[in-house]
Amino acid sequence: MEAAAGCHACDLYKTGTQTVFGEGDEHARVMLVGEQPGDREDIEGKPFVGPAGRILDTALKEAGIDRTGVYVTNVVKHFKWKPQGKRRLHQKPNAAEINACRPWLDAEIALVKPKILVLLGATAAQALLGREFRVTLQRGQFIERPGLPLMVATVHPSSILRAPDDESRELEMRAFVRDFQRVAQHRQQ
Ligand code: SF4
Repeated sequence: MEAAAGCHACDLYKTGTQTVFGEGDEHARVMLVGEQPGDREDIEGKPFVGPAGRILDTALKEAGIDRTGVYVTNVVKHFKWKPQGKRRLHQKPNAAEINACRPWLDAEIALVKPKILVLLGATAAQALLGREFRVTLQRGQFIERPGLPLMVATVHPSSILRAPDDESRELEMRAFVRDFQRVAQHRQQ
């Protein structure tokens, strides 16, 4: 995995501060896969340690899943952003960048050998399940594909942060926790 630190397979190594690899239990039964590191993750070099990570931690806890017992990563390992004033504004990675980074995700899956992959948001879901996959319609469904662990998609926790008001944020959070409760049940089987 140290080789990823010097990866130049796409141009994102130029914008990201560092490669942000996955972390967690290397024998985890559950691997969570997000889109890419955000601003905080880029600085700290760890996945899901910013505001979205706090939402994720809360949901995992409420579903009875110990974060230290799962492995957390992203489909793209460098932060893609553009400047907006003093802020670094998140930019969605494109298909070429996702494809270039795929070998690193495959290496993590081969190393950890999880039973379940939880795909957080459309970028992760479409990277693993195809461009036609719609998280809004198919979240929470367990899907089998040859050569991959059992997969299930849910929203990215950053979408809960972007909810327009407290009521919809609360509803989104409940649905997010329910998705993880299903994961917790499947994990035991
Ligand atoms: S985003 Fe992935 S493929 Fe692109 S340089 Fe970083 S580690 Fe390499």
